[in-house]
Parts: sequence; C-alpha cells; structure tokens
Amino acid sequence: MFLRFSASVLSLFLSASMAAQTKPAVTAAPAQQQIAAAADAMRPRLIAQRRDFHMHPELSNREDRTSRVVAERLKAIGFTDIRTGVGKYGVVAVLKGGKPGPVVAVRADMDALPITEVNDVPYKSQNPGVKHACGHDIHTTVELGVAEILFSMRDKIPGSIKFIFQPAEEGPPEGEEGGAGLMVKEGALENPRPQAIFGLHVHPQVQVGQLSYTPGAMMASSDHFILNIHGKQAHGAHPELGVDAIVVAAQAIEALQTIRSRRLTGTDAFVLTVGMIKGGTRNNIITGEVAMEGTIRTLDESVRKKVPGWMNETLKGVTEANGATYDLRFIGPYPVTYNDPKLVEETLPAMRRVVGNANLSLAPPEMGAEDFSEFSRIVPGFYYRLGVGNKAKGITAGTHTPDFDADEESLVIGVKTMANVLVDYLERHSRQMPAAD
Ligand SMILES: [Zn+2]
Ligand SMILES: [Zn+2]
Repeated sequence: MFLRFSASVLSLFLSASMAAQTKPAVTAAPAQQQIAAAADAMRPRLIAQRRDFHMHPELSNREDRTSRVVAERLKAIGFTDIRTGVGKYGVVAVLKGGKPGPVVAVRADMDALPITEVNDVPYKSQNPGVKHACGHDIHTTVELGVAEILFSMRDKIPGSIKFIFQPAEEGPPEGEEGGAGLMVKEGALENPRPQAIFGLHVHPQVQVGQLSYTPGAMMASSDHFILNIHGKQAHGAHPELGVDAIVVAAQAIEALQTIRSRRLTGTDAFVLTVGMIKGGTRNNIITGEVAMEGTIRTLDESVRKKVPGWMNETLKGVTEANGATYDLRFIGPYPVTYNDPKLVEETLPAMRRVVGNANLSLAPPEMGAEDFSEFSRIVPGFYYRLGVGNKAKGITAGTHTPDFDADEESLVIGVKTMANVLVDYLERHSRQMPAAD
C-alpha cells in the first residue's frame, strides 16, 4: 500500500516537475545559459581584476584609483550613462535594455580597511597598512563582470539596470560624510529610480559554491555614540572638593547595561558596547572629564528608536545623583539591513537555478551592520551572502582580519548569481507591468 502510494506520488511529482521544467525553460534558459558561458569565459579576467583591486586597496572616502578603474572599465564596456563623484567617489551607471520594463539596481562597495596584510600571496596589498579585508574587491569585480555580461545581452533585457559602486561602506573618517547615505542624498536612487535593489557580501564561513540568505532583518542597525561626563577636578586626596568623573563614568557604564538586561525582553537582539574610555591625567588628580564612545546594535527599528530616550533617562539619573552632568550625541547611524521577504521569496528560484538547492541555505541574522540598509530602506532590497571560504585550501579567516582571503572561484559564481537575479527580476516584473501604448 505504502509502495503503491509513493510510486503514484512519485509519478505525479515527476510529471509535475517535467511540466514545470518545460514552462520557464522557454524564457529563462537561454539567458541563463548565455550568462553561464560568458561568466565561465571571463574567469581569468575576473581573477586579474580582483587582484588588481586587492593590490591597490584604498581607505573609505579615498577610493580615487578604484573609482577611476571602475568608471574606465564601464566606459570600455560601452556604457554611456555614467555618473562619477556621487557621494565623493561613488559611480552610478545605467544600462537601458532593448525591451520595456522596470528599473532594478545592484550595489557593490569599494573601500578597504586600515589593516596590514599578512598573507604571502602574489597579489598582496601594495599599499602598506591597508587591505581589502572585507572582500569589497570581490564585490566590485563581480559587479563589473555582471555589467559587462548584461551589456552584451542588452537587446534582450526588459527594463533598465542601475549599477551603483559605493565608497566608504566601512564608515567615513571622522568629520567627513560618506557612504551609502551620502550617495542617496546626492541622487544615486533618482533618475531613474529603481523599484528594487540587490547586493551581496562575501562570507568566509560560507563555503565557495554556496550562498546564504536571511529574510527580514539580516544585519543589525549600528549607532555610534559619544558620551562625555563632566565632573569637577580636585586634588586626589580631597574628593570632597570635586566630582570624580571616573566614578560617575563607572556607574554610568554599569547602568547603561541595564537597558539590555532590564528594559528589553530576553529575546530582543540588542548590544550596547562602550568601546572606548578616556579620562584622567595623573594618579593624584581627581579628573573632571571622562570621554566615552560606543556602539548600539539591534535588529528591530522600533527598539532602536527607544534607545536614546532610555540612555538619556539613565545618564540623567546617574549624573544628577553624583552632582555631575553629561552630554550624549549620536553619529554615523546605519539602519537595520532589512531584506524584503516578498522580494527574497521571488528571487530564491533564480539563485537555486545557479548554485543548486543544496547550496542555498537560510542563515540567522547577524549583529554586524551594513550601510546597504541606506538603500534598502528606500526601495525593497535583498542582500545575500556569497560563500568565499574553502577549508581544504585553508581559506577560513574572518573578515576584518590581517589574514582574510577569499577563494577566487567565488567570482564566477558571484557574477552568474547576480546577473541571473537581475534578469530574472526584470523578466518577472516586466510581465506584470501594464502594456505601454
Ligand atoms: Zn567590513
Ligand atoms: Zn564589508
């Protein structure tokens, strides 16, 4: 009975899946095959391009060479609609397809980190103290590869693709503006306005050949705070004459941790870190000033909005109780990186077709932050992870470390995936658009 039942279920399943295969194959397969062939043929050039970026890393808001290489490459491909200098070194290029359809965007970040490379590789950083330790060299190379392939297929593309190359994802230097927020301010999402945006980030814990994704909140918000405690300086032997800012600061740090432990539920994802504290000049002087800096991370925008109020209440109480005062300000906020669940759901089949179902996995959210969120809070976005790890080759180091590296086989996979995701989006949504007169 069981055998007969499962055999008939199996034959039903087979005929259903055969029918399902023949239907999309008519429209999707030729584009997918063309992308695959072009990406495979491009492999040596992708590796060379990535190594060039890797050898010439540039810090946030200093991506002069990188953005020039990007713009020159886009020009050489044949792009005519290229804007440079968007949010300092940002580059925005638009590819207009040969058929009517919507506008979709893709974003890659270009900056490196102040980290000295320790890997003894032929493409070692030539810029001492600076390294592509977050894989943005891979992101930029992948997006250029996608731009080249889709440009060559433009007659068949229904709609337009906006390619965004972004500086300063790691955060601009103090006192400077920069990153995704500044690009948005300077019109990166206007003329034309995309109706969705995609991006990817390398992940060394995901093995090369695999992708992972998180619907909804994927990465935390990040708010950088600066907190100053003002007391009164006095002789170290006479506390009665001063207000010890160090003692007040110690109480303030402990009290701020009760936001995590006593204001929120046990399941709210939240971190408050005081990462820097400076105060005092000598062993025998009670200091009047302590300066602190920290970061706040959460996966919930409604929690994020409440935090400044809770911090102010706490700090007001602690400082008043000690006869001190304080000032608190926030700089460089990144919102929660939120993946639109509907966009994720409708994109997954295209990703599966490229890497296979077994290589696409659901992953939990992370407390790291990402300024892709500045784009995806304006238009629905989907940011996914590209596997670059390879235990057999010893490629296991985390991002932001001196020995981080990426398996370069990820380049072709990254190009295939993103090119398919974009074409798939346009094909799907151009079908849904009302016919133009
Ligand atoms: Zn990073
Ligand atoms: Zn990064």
